[in-house]
Amino acid sequence: MRLSRYFLPVLKENPSEAQIVSHRYMLRAGMIKQASAGIYSWLPLGLKVLKKIENIVHEEQVRAGHIPMLMPTLQSADLWRESGRYDGYGKEMLRMTDRHGREMLYTPTAEELVTDIFRAHVSSYKDLPLTLYQIQWKFRDEIRPRFGVMRGREFFMKDGYNFDLTKEDALHAYNRHLVSYLRTYERMGLQAIPMRADSGPIGGDYTHEFLVLAETGESEVFYDSQVTDISLGQREIDYDDVAQCQGVLEEFTSLYARTDETHVAAEFDELPADRRRSARGIEVGQIFYFGTTYSDKLGANVVNDQGKQVPVHMGSHGIGVSRLLGAIIEASHDDKGIIWPEGVTPFHCGIVNVRQGDTAADAACEGIYKALTAAGLEPLYDDRDERAGGKFAGMDLIGLPWRITVGPRGLKNGVVELTSRRTGESEELTPELAVAKVVEIYAGI
Ligand code: ATP
Ligand code: MG
Repeated sequence: MRLSRYFLPVLKENPSEAQIVSHRYMLRAGMIKQASAGIYSWLPLGLKVLKKIENIVHEEQVRAGHIPMLMPTLQSADLWRESGRYDGYGKEMLRMTDRHGREMLYTPTAEELVTDIFRAHVSSYKDLPLTLYQIQWKFRDEIRPRFGVMRGREFFMKDGYNFDLTKEDALHAYNRHLVSYLRTYERMGLQAIPMRADSGPIGGDYTHEFLVLAETGESEVFYDSQVTDISLGQREIDYDDVAQCQGVLEEFTSLYARTDETHVAAEFDELPADRRRSARGIEVGQIFYFGTTYSDKLGANVVNDQGKQVPVHMGSHGIGVSRLLGAIIEASHDDKGIIWPEGVTPFHCGIVNVRQGDTAADAACEGIYKALTAAGLEPLYDDRDERAGGKFAGMDLIGLPWRITVGPRGLKNGVVELTSRRTGESEELTPELAVAKVVEIYAGI
C-alpha cells in the first residue's frame, strides 16, 4: 500500500477521552473511531489487525479439530425463555421488538442458539464429539463501556461450544481449548496466563480465564512468578492425544494463579515470599465446562451405545478478539507508539523515502516495494512529499515492526537502512539484502 493512496487519519493531539495507552494509540493511529459509547467503526488500519487476529484464532481452532460456523447477531427471545436466561440476563441484554411485536435480542453469547441447532440435527452418540464455534459480533450493554475496544458494548468474540457424550470427553474438549488458546495467544506475541476463575451461578471447578498482565487491566490477579516462565513454544501437539492435552493443562495450571474471585490468601501465603506476585490483568479469554446445564434445560439428548437417551455434556469457550487489540498494545508499546508483534502487524514493513522526488531514492523505494510485494508481503510505503521527521514519527506511531529507510546519501554507497521498531537498532544493507532479511523474518511466522 502506498500511503498517499491509503486512508490513515492519524491524529496529532492526544484525544482527551482516552484514559489508557492502547485506546490513545488506536485513536491516534487512525485505527478506530467511536460511533457511540462503546461502539466503534473499524478504520482500515484497525480492520487489518482485527482480521489478522481473527485469522490466527480460526487457524488454531481448526487445528484443534473445532468446526467454524456463523450464527446471527439477532435472536428470538423465545429460546432464552426456554433456558431461563431471558429475565436473568438483565440490563446487559439489548432487547428489541420487530414489526410483528416479536421480542428479539442482540446476542451477548450463543449457548441457547447453538444448543438449538444441536438438538435439531444430532441424536446419536456416534456423531460425537462435536465442537462448533463462531467469530461474531456480540452486544452487551455494559454499564461503563471504557478503554476503547477493551470494554466495548459491541465487540468481536470467538465463542465455541463442545458437545460430548461423557464428562471425561468434555474435559478433553476443555483441555483442547486450553492448549489451542495458549497457542493462539503466543502467535500474537502475548503471554496469557490461565488462571482459576469463578464459575458463577452455574458452579463447578472447570473454568479458567486467560490473563495478560498489564497495569491497566481490570482484574486483580495473584500468581506464583514461576508461571511466567512457562510457554508452549514450538512443541508438536496432537489434539487427539488425551494424555498430552491433560499434561499441558497440568503444566500450565498447577502453579498458583488465580483471579481475585477465587483467590485464597492462606494458600497463596504458603508460596516463598519472593515468588508471590499480585498484579493486574486483562481477561482475553475464558474456558468453561458446565456439564448438562443447558442440555437439560433445552432437551439436547443423544442416544448412547446402550440405546438410552442421555443429555450431552457441554462447555463454552470464548476469546475476546477485538479486546485483544487493546491487550496487545498494552503489552507492546513505547512512548512513541505501538510496537506490533510480527504475527499481527497490519503491514509487514514500512518503507520511508526521506527525499521524495529524488530520482534514485524514488526508484530504490519502488524496487523494494515491488520485491516485498512479490515475496507475498504487504509493505506500507510512505511516498508522501513530507519531511522525513514526520514520516518517522508516523511509522513509529503505527508500529510496524520493521522499517526500510531510503535516502540519496545511503544510496550513493549502495545501501538503505533496516530498522527494528522494537530495539531501535538499524543496519545498513543493500536494498536486495534488506528485502531478503525482511522476507526471512516473516518466513518463520
Ligand atoms: P468481563 O469479565 O471482562 O466482563 P466476561 O467474563 O463477562 O468478561 P466472557 O463471557 O467470558 O466475558 O466472554 C469471553 C471474552 O470476551 C472475554 O474473555 C473477553 O476477552 C471478551 N469480552 C467480554 N466482554 C467484553 C466487552 N465488553 N468488550 C470487549 N471484549 C469483551
Ligand atoms: Mg469471562
